[in-house]
Amino acid sequence: MADPGTSAIGAVDGRMFIDGQRTGSRARQAVDRGWAGLPPVRRVRMLNQLARLLRERSRALAELESLDVGKPLRQAEDDVAAAAGYFEFFAGVADKVFGSSIPLGQGFLDFTLREPLGISAQIVPWNYPLRLASRGIAPALAAGNAVVAKPAAEAGLSILYLAELALEAGIPAGVFNVVTGGRETGAALASHPGINHITFTGSVPTGIAIMKAAADNVVPVTLELGGKSPNLVFADADLERAAASSASTLMQNAAQTCTAPTRLLLEQGAHDRFIELLATRIRAIRLGRGLDNPDMGPVVSERQMERVLGYITAGSRDGARAITGGVRAQARELAAGYFIEPTLLDRVERGSVLEQEEIFGPVLTVTTFESLDEAIAIANGTPYGLVTGVWTKDLSKAMTAATAVKSGQVRVNGYSVEGSIGLPFGGYKRSGFGREQGIEALASYTQIKNVMINYGPS
Ligand code: NAD
Repeated sequence: MADPGTSAIGAVDGRMFIDGQRTGSRARQAVDRGWAGLPPVRRVRMLNQLARLLRERSRALAELESLDVGKPLRQAEDDVAAAAGYFEFFAGVADKVFGSSIPLGQGFLDFTLREPLGISAQIVPWNYPLRLASRGIAPALAAGNAVVAKPAAEAGLSILYLAELALEAGIPAGVFNVVTGGRETGAALASHPGINHITFTGSVPTGIAIMKAAADNVVPVTLELGGKSPNLVFADADLERAAASSASTLMQNAAQTCTAPTRLLLEQGAHDRFIELLATRIRAIRLGRGLDNPDMGPVVSERQMERVLGYITAGSRDGARAITGGVRAQARELAAGYFIEPTLLDRVERGSVLEQEEIFGPVLTVTTFESLDEAIAIANGTPYGLVTGVWTKDLSKAMTAATAVKSGQVRVNGYSVEGSIGLPFGGYKRSGFGREQGIEALASYTQIKNVMINYGPS
């Protein structure tokens, strides 16, 4: 989708809001008029209603997402269900934003209030637009903030639809707003003095730019950045299950997923058997147009395709061997799209570009290890730290790895789980900081006020 320039939906005049020429924007008015002061149970009802509308319109939303991003319809429907799940989860939290009381002795009462920050800017990438926007918008609204969301220029339709549904759910005009546009719009939003908080999900260089912009206005940021997640497969693991999980990593959004465990670390003794199991599964993956519901769709754009193919070429020069794929899809019906054959690259050198940089396309790299210590050292050997996968039947190995790796999540003997919305998620190292999902997310969207009352005689 082309960059449509700056525009807005909902009740905010986006251009006016982000160029800062007009005070009294609708988002500010919404905050000042008391979204935060509503009885919280009303926010509970509205967020639940929004979740219901998302589920009702699932098909239409999924089609928009599939058209924009290219992902299979089934996966887009999962994204809509996850988005609804975020609103349901945080609807359940909206009337439980508790403070605490602190004992000071006779004659004193001291307590804390958890107050919203004001206006939260949500800058969203193109790979899971609706799901990732909802991940930040739901806790922000639940805690009483207003939101200005900015989707990526490549894929903004589902978030615009979400803004319409928010109005339909009874959320007052001005509370949830969308501005569309590319880098310039994002930069203008991030540096606007009327913004009180920023959640950014995207690449590391953009995250750094946003953090600098936020510093000028002294506003807090939550950064959800890239990943290069390792997947440690020990020889004693259930190799069938681990291989099935790895194959689904490729199919899921053509591995354009920040959490995708694309860096396979195989214990030497498991190498040949695992590669055989995985390659068989990968060769069975059907490519096609998202709306036709294949196993795997194209990557999002020509630019992304060229980038991914460039990594594969560089890897081959460094001695990596393509067990499957490694090229743009050749079949006649696919030739016009940005399809890359699902790729398994073996013999990827530790420390090489392929092993270090986020490829963000359907490519799995394989590196081998001989001991637990070596596996942990390789796992920790990139600037990223988002998620680590571990496959073993040995509890001691699993726990040693889980505590030694530097990543915000560790997933043992299974990479996905129903209910993951409740699990705190975020990065170590250059994968970012702050936590989304789970009760922990509320910390990003509230500030604490302490109230001390001296009611004693003196
Ligand atoms: P990106 O950084 O290029 O863009 C993300 C968003 O920021 C877009 O809306 C873009 O328009 C905006 N933007 C670009 N430059 C900006 C600037 N200077 N100031 C303000 N906003 C700006 O990322 P992308 O290519 O859209 O997404 C892919 C990246 O996102 C990958 O690195 C991926 O790992 C990461 N990601 C992280 C998570 C997570 O939760 N940790 C989830 C999904 C994607």
